[in-house]
Amino acid sequence: MALIVMKFGGSSVGDAERMKRVANRVVQTKREGHQCVVVVSAMGDTTDDLIDLANQLTEQAPAREMDMLLSTGEQVSVALLSMAIQQFGEQAVSFTGWQAGIHTEEVHSKARITDIQPARIHRALEGGSIVIVAGFQGMTASGEITTLGRGGSDTTAVALAAAIEADVCEIFTDVDGIYSTDPRIVKVARKLQEISYDEMLELANLGAAVLHPRAVEYAKHYNVKLVVRSSFNQNPGTLVKEEATMEQGIVVSGIAYDKNVARISLLGVPDKPGQLATVFGALATEQIDVDLIVQSGVIGGLADFSFTVSLGDLQKALQVIEAIKPKVEFRAATSETDLVKISIVGAGMVSNPGVAAKMFETISALGISIQLVSTSEIKVSCVIDIARQNDVVRALHTAYGLDTSEQAFVGGPQDRR
Ligand code: ADP
Ligand code: ASP
Ligand code: MG
Repeated sequence: MALIVMKFGGSSVGDAERMKRVANRVVQTKREGHQCVVVVSAMGDTTDDLIDLANQLTEQAPAREMDMLLSTGEQVSVALLSMAIQQFGEQAVSFTGWQAGIHTEEVHSKARITDIQPARIHRALEGGSIVIVAGFQGMTASGEITTLGRGGSDTTAVALAAAIEADVCEIFTDVDGIYSTDPRIVKVARKLQEISYDEMLELANLGAAVLHPRAVEYAKHYNVKLVVRSSFNQNPGTLVKEEATMEQGIVVSGIAYDKNVARISLLGVPDKPGQLATVFGALATEQIDVDLIVQSGVIGGLADFSFTVSLGDLQKALQVIEAIKPKVEFRAATSETDLVKISIVGAGMVSNPGVAAKMFETISALGISIQLVSTSEIKVSCVIDIARQNDVVRALHTAYGLDTSEQAFVGGPQDRR
C-alpha cells in the first residue's frame, strides 16, 4: 500500500463530466489498495473569471479581499469532487487549506507555506477516507486566508506530499508530461522521461507553466518523488528527480517563454557612482523584483540602462522611478510591454561553448532584434518582440536538435489559451 498525493489542475476538473472522470481515477487508485490525498485547482478558467469580476469593480483590488475571492474557486472544486467520489461508493472528505493544516506567511497573493500540521489528514486517512484538499490556499497565524501565487496548487500538492511523507506526488494535467518546450507551440516537442530538479526549477522560473516553481523547490528540498502526467490517459509521464540521465548530444534540454515581462529604460543617466544602487534600492523597497538589467556604454558622461519587471509591477515601478528622478537626474524614462522572454535551459551548457552564440544567430537569422540578454551556468534568456514568440521558440527547438519525428501528443483540450 502506498500513500499517494494526486493533484488535478483546472482543465482536468473543468466541468461535471471531467470531475466524474477524476473521481473515477481516484477511486480506482484507492481500490488498488492505496491511500489517496487529492489536491484540486479551481474549475477551468474560474480563477481568471474571478479576477475579471474584481477588475470590473475596482482598479486596485485590496489584496486581502482578492485572496478571499480567489480561494473560493478551489473550495467549489473540493466539495464537488468529494460528492462525485462518494457517488462511486467511497468515503471522501474535503478540506480547505486551513482545515488541512496549511499555514503561510502573512503575505497576500503569493504567500509561502511556513508549515503544515497534517494531523487531521492522517486521521481522515486512517478512518478510510479519500482526503481532498483545496490547492493554492493557506492561512496565516493571524487567521487570514492567503493564496500561493498563480499555479500554486502544484505547490500545495508537493508540500503536502513532503509533510505526510507520501511515496509519490503525481501532478495530473492536460499534457502527457514535461516536454522540451510547450507542446502547444511546438508540435514536434519531445516528451522527457525524466528531468532533474535543477533544470525543471530553471524552466519553471523562466515561465514553463507546467509546474509552479515553488513546487519544484519543495520537491528538491524534501526529495519528493514528483511525476507529471496526463489526467486524460494512462501514459507514464515525466519523473522529476535529483539527477536525470542526459540524452547523448543534448546540450539544451528545454525552452521556456514568459510573457509576463515589461521593459523600463532610463535614458541619459549621469555616470556617477551609486546610481544603480539608488534605482534598484528604491524598487526593492517597494518589493518590485527586477529581472534582466543592461547598461549601455557611457557617451558624454551619460549612460542608458534598461531592465525588466513583471507586467503587474510596471505602473508601480514607473512611479518609483519618477519619485527618484531628482536624485538620479536621468533625462527620460520609457517603457514597453509587448515583449516575451525566451530562454534555453540545459545542464550540459556549462561545458559547451557556443551555445549562447547559436541562440543569437538563430534569432537574428529570423530578422529579429534582441532587446535584453541574461545568462547563467544553465540558461540563456533573450527578450524580444512578443509577435515573434512562436517563430523563435520553434526555430530554437530545431536549432538545438530537439525536434522529434513524432507529433507531440497533447492529452487535453487544445482551445484553452
Ligand atoms: P493545470 O491546469 O493542470 O495546472 P497548466 O496550464 O498550469 O495546467 O500547465 C499545463 C500547461 O503547461 C500545458 O497545457 C502546456 O501548454 C504548458 N507548458 C508550458 N511549457 C511546458 C512544457 N515544457 N512541457 C509541458 N507543458 C508545458
Ligand atoms: N487556481 C489557481 C490558478 O489558476 C491555482 C492553480 O490552478 O494552481 O492560478
Ligand atoms: Mg498549473
